[in-house]
Amino acid sequence: MTPHGDGDGWVHCAAGHRHWGLFGAAGLLLRRDDAGTAEVLLQHRATWSHHGGTWGLLGGARHRRETVVDAALREAGEEGGLDPAYVEVHGRFDDSHGGWTYATVLAGARPGAVAQPTGGESIDVAWVAVEDVTSLPLHPGLAGAWPLLRDALHRPTVVVDAANVVGSRPDGWWRDRAGAARRLVDAVAGLSRSGLERSRLPPGLDLPELACWWPRWVVVLEGAARPAAQNAPQGVCVVAAEGSGDDAIVQAVHDAGGGPVLVVTADRGLRDRCHSIGAASVGSRWLADMFA
Ligand SMILES: [Zn+2]
Repeated sequence: MTPHGDGDGWVHCAAGHRHWGLFGAAGLLLRRDDAGTAEVLLQHRATWSHHGGTWGLLGGARHRRETVVDAALREAGEEGGLDPAYVEVHGRFDDSHGGWTYATVLAGARPGAVAQPTGGESIDVAWVAVEDVTSLPLHPGLAGAWPLLRDALHRPTVVVDAANVVGSRPDGWWRDRAGAARRLVDAVAGLSRSGLERSRLPPGLDLPELACWWPRWVVVLEGAARPAAQNAPQGVCVVAAEGSGDDAIVQAVHDAGGGPVLVVTADRGLRDRCHSIGAASVGSRWLADMFA
């Protein structure tokens, strides 16, 4: 918590609990993979604090004009000394109590992320193996949400078959394939920033019900569209296929590593190949319709 944040104060939720944070609160659930073991960063809460002595997330009251992601990253910096440059956010879970919400920001740690207790609110800040979390005395908010959060620790990847998506709309793309592909890449970059709210996720992708996901986006270009890979905007990995676009898409699924993968294509043969290595798929209209 900031000493004089404008969100400081107690409120009562509709369930009758007392909570800290006039505009709600936010915390960071950060995952790292240390030599093959998945760990999460937890805070052992100071005994004088609310639910003192329990283990919870680095977090605290939101400021009035702050997004939940900004609030969670600020709190993690203040209490855990964590540099936000090492944090890759991929999801947000809203635990709504009626009139008060605790937002959990889910993220992965980049290599080299370090944390230690830096505020007066922690007995300790520690990386805990995912399988050991439930053996700790947990803050009740974390204990309640943990079964869902545990299944949302990995960032999903969306792989876009650009030729298929661009080709699904007869807007003259064949006159300028690179230009049409570039418009798709730029539109995907916008989605990368805004994230995908729950209602925009395709059926068939078996993800926990978060309020918002920020997947990793990979757009695969082939043939005459390949020049559109140059100077790609932030937030999108653009692959210019050397040979077959389908092979590059299958390779992107392999490279996604661990988390769920969704391939955007209407190509039946390609979908079968991707399903056989564990990816889900959705027709290109799902993406094209978001930009319509
Ligand atoms: Zn409550």
